[in-house]
Amino acid sequence: MDIQTNYRPTKAVIDLQAIEHNVASLRQHLQQGVQIIAVVKANAYGHGDVEVAKAAIKAGATMLAVATPDEAVHMRAHFPKTDMLILGATPPNFIPYAAKENITLTVFSTDWLERAAAYLPQSQPVRLHIKIDSGMGRIGVNSREELIPLYESIIASPHFILDGIFTHFATADEEDSLYFDNQVSLFKELLMALPSKPRLVHVANTATALVKDTSLQYDAVRFGISMYGLLPSSYIGEILPFPIQPAFSLQTELVHVKQLKAGQSLGYGATFTAEEDIYVGTIPIGYADGMIRKLSGQEVLVGGERTKIIGRICMDQSMILLPKAYNVGEPVVLIGHQGQERITLDDWANKLGTINYEVPCVITARVPRVYK
Ligand SMILES: *Cc1c(COP(=O)(O)O)cnc(C)c1O
Repeated sequence: MDIQTNYRPTKAVIDLQAIEHNVASLRQHLQQGVQIIAVVKANAYGHGDVEVAKAAIKAGATMLAVATPDEAVHMRAHFPKTDMLILGATPPNFIPYAAKENITLTVFSTDWLERAAAYLPQSQPVRLHIKIDSGMGRIGVNSREELIPLYESIIASPHFILDGIFTHFATADEEDSLYFDNQVSLFKELLMALPSKPRLVHVANTATALVKDTSLQYDAVRFGISMYGLLPSSYIGEILPFPIQPAFSLQTELVHVKQLKAGQSLGYGATFTAEEDIYVGTIPIGYADGMIRKLSGQEVLVGGERTKIIGRICMDQSMILLPKAYNVGEPVVLIGHQGQERITLDDWANKLGTINYEVPCVITARVPRVYK
């Protein structure tokens, strides 16, 4: 017997055409010859990395960026030839795999190169990108005194190829550009200090690629959040050069419908009490799916109408107020559109006091990602 999965109706439905549209639109917007690095770290911001990467490549991305060596191993199995960069710190014991599978690593200290001596590749050399910390304060070299010895050690080694150099901006999505401009200046100063430029210079995240000076596109841009149809900030939304389409939706179905009489309560703590006779629907999604308890009271869509989650969210189930006695099996949209109504990841982010980036990342692996 075939083993079926996804019996539960709760699903994240990912619109791959939206991903393709967003990448293709960016491509139109970029200067000639600028490559698109599709940032698919963290399971493509919770959207499903393999399918998102396929869509991005189809629409013109030429390189993938992940955060960790394990993500690179996972993606290499599906994309044996595609250029791939690990954005974060990689332990030197990953070097033999990186050499064999042609994974590009980020480096930012001579100490790393010294530790690398114990793991030098036997076969082909490993491609490296130097990370400049121009003001993010995360990883990277932030002075000529650190950069030049690192550069020279890489150039001197037959085991490494200096293939790129990059930095990351802390405030590219904000209207005030003072901090951004200072980061750009420091990056340019350090780039000029190098005897020769590596093949790939890249500084632009989504916000920079969309709204900043086109000279900052350099050789490639790292396209993350707006590939998923989400805005890096509301300020960017005001000056976006092309429309983007959100790809993520979260759907389920009613699994139980009942009437609650005026005065009756529901949920842990019995925090919700009906003021009049109402219909209540149970949906099979809870905080173990990433719909955390702080989302109690959040609006959902049923029958094309807005209604809301009532009572406390349980681990695996939640209750919603129903405008009428719907049947079991009635579709419920938690994120996405139904009829004329739409609930966005930004709505959830506002309710949670966070940013849209975080919301799909924390929808757990129990929720299957399905594609349309
Ligand atoms: C995550 C990440 C990006 C993508 O940023 P977006 O704002 O999503 O475009 C780009 N570069 C680095 C180094 C990152 O860590």
